[in-house]
Amino acid sequence: MNYHQYYPIDVVNGPGTRCTLFVAGCVHQCPGCYNKSTWRLNSGQPFSQTMEDQLIADLKDTRIPRQGLSLSGGDPLHPANLSAVLQLVKRVHAECPGKDIWLWTGYRLAELDAQQMQVVDRINVLIDGKFVQDLKDPALIWRGSANQVVHKLR
Ligand code: SF4
Repeated sequence: MNYHQYYPIDVVNGPGTRCTLFVAGCVHQCPGCYNKSTWRLNSGQPFSQTMEDQLIADLKDTRIPRQGLSLSGGDPLHPANLSAVLQLVKRVHAECPGKDIWLWTGYRLAELDAQQMQVVDRINVLIDGKFVQDLKDPALIWRGSANQVVHKLR
């Protein structure tokens, strides 16, 4: 998996203070996409073992407590990203108890396959659906357009 941005301290993408990772790769091609540079799977840079270890260490950092991890992109549920994202969310569960995981995807929850659900079964909040320019509303919280849904899963 490749990624574009990693913010070890982020107060914008989800509630509280978080670690946020923007991964590469998205098939949805939404007109008006805010992040077109992330569409290609081979854009950005490799999400290495060192980066994964750093992210886990940041979530555990008690000097600046993080509420959790935000995964965005690109699309963390792109089929090519699933094994790396699944490994990461499993580690967060095992090593960072109490941290929540939020994930933004262009797929709709109802259309996810079994492999994608392996990730979704381990996260707290899923914001789903393509960005639709005609339904764009800056007043919305955690989503860009009114068709997207904030699913509080657990
Ligand atoms: S799902 Fe998100 S990243 Fe992908 S094209 Fe749509 S707005 Fe852009």
